Amino acid sequence: MIIAANLKTNLTRKSTTEYINSLEAYIKSSGVSQDVLVFPAMSALDSFNSSYLSVGAQNAYPTKNGAFTGEIGTEQLDEFNITTILIGHSERRHILGETQESIATKFEYYKKLGYTIVYCVGEPLQKREAGKEEMMEYISAQYEGIDTSYENLIIAYEPVWAIGTGLTPTLEDIEEIHTDLKKKSYAPLLYGGSVKVDNAKEVLALKNVDGVLVGSAALKVDDFCHMISFAEELQK
Ligand code: PEP
Repeated sequence: MIIAANLKTNLTRKSTTEYINSLEAYIKSSGVSQDVLVFPAMSALDSFNSSYLSVGAQNAYPTKNGAFTGEIGTEQLDEFNITTILIGHSERRHILGETQESIATKFEYYKKLGYTIVYCVGEPLQKREAGKEEMMEYISAQYEGIDTSYENLIIAYEPVWAIGTGLTPTLEDIEEIHTDLKKKSYAPLLYGGSVKVDNAKEVLALKNVDGVLVGSAALKVDDFCHMISFAEELQK
């Protein structure tokens, strides 16, 4: 399974290094065989070069370098051998205003370079409440311009209303949506949105859930390791 931590705008360079070192020590000593990904804040990217986990960028612009104030490109990612990127996260869609068109352009750029792309999709509450058909239409639009057969693609289904709120869909709902989304792409499909130690095991055990993307609850490295141990126990 794939267990990923999105650290968002949290931790410093120093505390991120401590986090990754602790995580690596845990994976090494426990013989974990799951794929572990960590997305630190931009300023904490570094050459971690670990064979036990992968470090990715939460965002980057589709460029090598240039005049794109506030962004980074592949020149900066290459410095740290980073070849994994998160694209389409709801905070970038809804807070930073990224459009599906700009997201698809970014996707295409990083796909051509062979990056592992964790691509996020998910509906806001209003779409969920509008019923299944409207909700699935909304999510389907987030597949526009995305090569769903890309070999290094991982998809994360993250209902916007579940991110950072402590709310989650029912287990039945997660399984149902994952089963529908698996028809759109065979890529590994993660669930994200208020996953924590208390619910991670039951979410990971669901059919068509190939892992989890964890935000707030991954900030404590011991909790994140605990969630990794559940995936290890389940050995799907
Ligand atoms: C996320 O931001 O990808 C996420 C899943 O956040 P949280 O776990 O805090 O809901």
